[in-house]
Formats: sequence, C-alpha cells, structure tokens
Amino acid sequence: MKAFDQYQEDAKRTLNTEVSGNYKFANLGMGLAGEAGEVCDYLKKVVFHGHNLDKDKLRDELGDVLWYLANLAAAIDVPLSEIAKQNVAKLKKRYPNGFEASRSQKRDN
Ligand SMILES: [Mg+2]
Repeated sequence: MKAFDQYQEDAKRTLNTEVSGNYKFANLGMGLAGEAGEVCDYLKKVVFHGHNLDKDKLRDELGDVLWYLANLAAAIDVPLSEIAKQNVAKLKKRYPNGFEASRSQKRDN
C-alpha cells in the first residue's frame, strides 16, 4: 500500500496547480474519463481493427488513467491506498467467493 501513496505523491509533481476549486475536480474527472477513453479506443482497435495488442502502449495508457485517479483522490484528501482498500473491501462483501454472475444480478451496491 505504500507504493500507492508514494505514487500519489510523485504524481502531484506534474499537477496543474493553476486550476482550483471545482475546476480542479472537473479537470481531473474529465482527464480520467479521457484517458479511460484512450484505453477503450485502443482496445477497440485491437479487437475490431485487427491491431496487434501492444502491451507497452496499453501500459502507457493505464498509467495515464492512474495519474488522473491518483490526483483526483488527492483532491479530496484521500490516500490512494485508501481508495484501493475500500474497493477491495466492497468487492469482498459483494463477491465473498470470487466473482459470481448470480451475485452480480442480485446486487444492491
Ligand atoms: Mg493517454
């Protein structure tokens, strides 16, 4: 978990500090969605356009997603490790025995 928080600190180095208030959230949220969109677009090209999967390209785009995620979590003063822990706890509750489609269909959270 230390690695998450160290990464989050490192990612702050290149944050645009001229953006503040709600614009900061908008900038980071839009950036996160944009980078997730780049991942999606790249996978579309692999699946539907016959591109070979370039793991380095995918890694690079996943890193861009991580950068925005880390900085968005920092913007609400939440350590990235806490985001990870909370997600794991939620999924343990939702899928105590690993993924099960039946639990997905019945879930309320
Ligand atoms: Mg990118």
